[in-house]
Amino acid sequence: MHQQSPSHPERRERLSYTLDQLREEGIFDLPQIRLLSPRPAIRDDVLLVHTREYLQFLEETSITGGTIDADTYVPKDLIRDALLAAGGAITGADAVINQEVKNCFVLARPPGHHAGRSHGAGFCYLNNVAIMVRHLQRRGMRRIFILDWDAHHGNGTEEIFYDDPSVLFCSVHQYPFYPGSGRIEDIGIGDGKGYNVNLPIPAGSSDKEYRFLLEEVILPLAEEYMPDAIAISAGQDNHFTDPLTGLALTARGYAGLMQEMCILADSICYGRIIAVLEGGYSVEGGLPYTNLGLIAAMAGLDISAIREPEIYQETLHSVASADAFPKVIRMVSDLKKILADNWYFIRRYD
Ligand SMILES: [Zn+2]
Repeated sequence: MHQQSPSHPERRERLSYTLDQLREEGIFDLPQIRLLSPRPAIRDDVLLVHTREYLQFLEETSITGGTIDADTYVPKDLIRDALLAAGGAITGADAVINQEVKNCFVLARPPGHHAGRSHGAGFCYLNNVAIMVRHLQRRGMRRIFILDWDAHHGNGTEEIFYDDPSVLFCSVHQYPFYPGSGRIEDIGIGDGKGYNVNLPIPAGSSDKEYRFLLEEVILPLAEEYMPDAIAISAGQDNHFTDPLTGLALTARGYAGLMQEMCILADSICYGRIIAVLEGGYSVEGGLPYTNLGLIAAMAGLDISAIREPEIYQETLHSVASADAFPKVIRMVSDLKKILADNWYFIRRYD
């Protein structure tokens, strides 16, 4: 029910159109799909990540309504919806730990990855994925790998885990772009040094560049880290029809990424993946197809036929750029020099 205004990009139709698409495709009729109902997060869950003062600010502002930044209003009753989104992520994590399901996709709004310990930003209030990760750790999981593939840098999540080696945070994002952070030089601090990995990529990057990053950095990084579970901040605003960003991933590209992450999770952490929805604003365009593709991949279905309607193909050609690939190769080479002391898989190939 969360709504800042009917015309805000982060609006109700983001999920209602996705759910219509999933019903139309018969996803909920499949025997391997289970629909879980979220429980709201409680204050103790939120305080695993956020400060008491910030939670109190959200609670009080939810009575009167208010503003966090130019894009992020606090509508009345915000805290009710924000607690349900964070609690949805916890519900998903519990179902995975309890082996009720192998993996889980938390289709929740509002998103969370721009929210830091003591502030909201960029449509985000509570950091759902961070709260879920701390909950996993409270339940005995020691190391968690977070892959944030939202088009925007996951600056809130980075801040929360920046000095913490028990969480490996890896963000792929358009750069330069909102929120401005996410440089390759920002690798963590103190004990957390080397456990924050930013992969900034230029506008126009498409399936090919993401596949390259997966093979060159993300998979070997996760294999060396050996996490107990994988969390994915799954923003679908990299899709080539997204109105807010300039990336060019396709629905098939997204499904392929998820399929590779599932194969990885099978080999290192009993298949445990909890994906949590972040951005994705192509409400009537790519978003329902990308969410469908991700769920199909997580359920082990054949993803070879996942594709957008034909009418979008022209947009793809105008957004994807041939200049992106050499820039991404250079970025990865620079990043490996910076991280060579921290990761064996990088030194091994020197
Ligand atoms: Zn985003």
